[in-house]
Amino acid sequence: MNGMVEICVESRKSKVLSPSALRCLSRIPTINITSGCAHGCIYCYSRGYSQYPGEGKIILFSNIAEKVEDELKRKRKKPAAVYFCPSCDPFQPVPEVLRQTYETMKILLEHSVGVQFVTKAGVPDEFLKLFERHKNLVCGQVGLITTDDRIRRTFEPGAASVAQRLRTAKMLLDIGVELSVRADPLIRGVTDSDEQIRTLCEAVASLGVSEIAVSYLFLRPAIKKSFERNIKDQGLLDRILAPYSDGEWLAIEARGSRSLALPGALRKESFERIKKVASGYGITVRICGCKNPDITNESCNITRITDGPEKRLFD
Ligand code: SF4
Repeated sequence: MNGMVEICVESRKSKVLSPSALRCLSRIPTINITSGCAHGCIYCYSRGYSQYPGEGKIILFSNIAEKVEDELKRKRKKPAAVYFCPSCDPFQPVPEVLRQTYETMKILLEHSVGVQFVTKAGVPDEFLKLFERHKNLVCGQVGLITTDDRIRRTFEPGAASVAQRLRTAKMLLDIGVELSVRADPLIRGVTDSDEQIRTLCEAVASLGVSEIAVSYLFLRPAIKKSFERNIKDQGLLDRILAPYSDGEWLAIEARGSRSLALPGALRKESFERIKKVASGYGITVRICGCKNPDITNESCNITRITDGPEKRLFD
């Protein structure tokens, strides 16, 4: 046990560098260091996956670095970049996880393979030193759905505080890592008022970051159950779920499972409003077209692969 999280260690048998089922990530190799995630965000999509080990548990794959080294040797052409992680946080605060993430990222970077990530953690110093040595190969997104730690604790109980995430973002920018902020999932009526978006944009702009990717919460049966179990305030729960009664089922995963989204008109109107507020801070808002196919075909830039290297990712 580590803090509140039970860790089970396993060896990964299947290939490690594999495409994700999420449409936006389906064209680049991705790595999951664990199944489950110590951050325990109550909206986490991985809760609905068959490999999800259950609340408060993670399965750590202890041979990822070794397998990556082996898979890289076998590839005719190395991938341009690898994405961490579609269904866990690469920097979740568990020493064994951090060790495995570090070894894996180090191997990739030393083979000149880019490392891209999204995180809701504080990134430890040893990673910053590693990234500084390879800054042209590293790019990241810091996840931030609110600047209010009380709200953050309800939805992301085990993730880093807002202040810690902003510090991490600043340190990554200072060493020259390309960085943007990901406000995903925004929660209608709870984290997306004009005032809240203004405060979020202020925090982002003060870092010198000029881009935010936004998306709204999707409901799947496992996520709805997680909300019902974890949100004790019935009024808050009702407020979150109400707009989904007129929601739309969208296929946002390459494997075709469907998720309940807010009604299209409501999402559209909200994105327009957010864009307007953000523009006052010189911030460009990116909407994920994979998660909002009825609204846009824009990219949320979750990965930064240009046309050239993208073609050779899976050779
Ligand atoms: S940090 Fe990401 S992967 Fe981890 S629990 Fe939160 S949403 Fe899920």
